[in-house]
Amino acid sequence: MTTPRPRPTGASTSPVGPDPDDLADLELSPEAMTTMGRAVLDRVVEHIATIGDLPAHGDVHAEALCRQLAEPRPPATGVPLDDVLAPYCDEWVGRSFTTPSPGYLAFIPGGGVFPSALADLLADGTNRYTGVWRAAPALVQLEANVLAWFAHWMGYPDEARGLLTSGGSLASLSAIVCAREKLLGPRLREGVLYTSTQTHHSVAKSARMAGILSDRLRAVPVDADFRMDVAALRDAIARDRAAGLAPFCVVSSAGTTNTGAVDDLDAITELCAAEGLWHHCDGAYGAFFHIVPELRPLLAGLSRCDSITLDPHKGLFLPYGTGALLVREGRDLRAAHAETAAYLPDPAVEEFYDPHQYGPELSRDFRGLRVWLPLKLFGAERFEAALREKRELALAAAERVAALPGVVLDAPPQLSLFAWHLTWPGATLADENAATKEMLDRVNAEKRVFLTGCTLSDGRYLARVCILCFRTRAEHVEAGVEDIETATREVLAARGV
Ligand SMILES: *Cc1c(COP(=O)(O)O)cnc(C)c1O
Repeated sequence: MTTPRPRPTGASTSPVGPDPDDLADLELSPEAMTTMGRAVLDRVVEHIATIGDLPAHGDVHAEALCRQLAEPRPPATGVPLDDVLAPYCDEWVGRSFTTPSPGYLAFIPGGGVFPSALADLLADGTNRYTGVWRAAPALVQLEANVLAWFAHWMGYPDEARGLLTSGGSLASLSAIVCAREKLLGPRLREGVLYTSTQTHHSVAKSARMAGILSDRLRAVPVDADFRMDVAALRDAIARDRAAGLAPFCVVSSAGTTNTGAVDDLDAITELCAAEGLWHHCDGAYGAFFHIVPELRPLLAGLSRCDSITLDPHKGLFLPYGTGALLVREGRDLRAAHAETAAYLPDPAVEEFYDPHQYGPELSRDFRGLRVWLPLKLFGAERFEAALREKRELALAAAERVAALPGVVLDAPPQLSLFAWHLTWPGATLADENAATKEMLDRVNAEKRVFLTGCTLSDGRYLARVCILCFRTRAEHVEAGVEDIETATREVLAARGV
């Protein structure tokens, strides 16, 4: 036996930062890493511990600040961590929509549970290659586990496979590519894709990137509950077939961004099955409510869709940069993305999940850990309870807002989002729109909650509340409803109502 020869370590010994006398050294000493890591951790903990005290939206009119921050050339020499940490935390972060705030009820709220931040530190600090199974099999298995958990929650069979993406948009892109590869082949130019007028704009963008030009994109009208009109969809498909085109994909929504509408997924699946079309469901906002057993009927038919977009950075309360796609017949996802090269290890056998065979990326961050660690540390039951609570909070808030004089609840919560407008005798649409906007501005001026509105295709402006931030609890919703009550009274009083 030969004794192993020592491995050179090359580590810096400077306790505060990189070695000042050795410019090529990018390693830090253990002391420096600990000091710097603690400084960042202290800042993050302080930020999270006081997030409820921050205004629900900061001042984002920051043009002057951005001009001052613009730095057209890279810095040649370094600065101490605190020189950048302090302004980042004290000046820059606050100039934003406070997306992690409990008062953030705007758009579709995001999350940011702390264990994901630890997971990112762990993943980046160990920096293994998780694009290829053979390069880090055990780590990739954790990502495969997460995808299997998602599939289980959605009621998908064991053959389902998936992909962690940077967000919902790229998940829908891969879904459309998958449908296109399976059903269109060389008939790409004739391929027609169907959405509703309420579908998220990212679907049109994804269709374009997948080679489906805008003259092959149909926005089917919706019913009074903002759900895709399935009879109109059937007619549209028939018209396109009669014109010699090739209908191939319907993208439904499990929770639209405007009003939270869930399409009739069962009816759309049945139509797609009869017509030989792919049914992709955009569940970026709503699909995770399927985790809660008693809420599954609200998403009836989700398990039967050919593929589902999920956004863990929304409904699973994780930080931005975490989306997912699930495909019911996993081999369809693989067929659309599989590729090999002589310089890569052989792709994993079927039993093991090999990320680069299922998606467009090769090198990528280890986003699986950002999902896996919070689920391991908290357990699924906490996520289920939190989702259940958000739905209950939305139901209770909607009931109180609907009871206010002058309120028309256009969209009661199908999940955890509701939308309404103000009215009074003799008001025109323009009067109502102006009053509803003014009410929203007044609520936002209090900075206890942040709301946004939406304009429907008929020109109607709606105020909306979406409860999905994990930090939003009963007391924050109470504050929001109080502010809505006061603002509504004032706005209507100013109009003599
Ligand atoms: C957020 C959202 C998207 C887009 O997802 P990203 O993660 O922002 O790319 C798509 N559809 C719906 C319904 C959404 O709420």
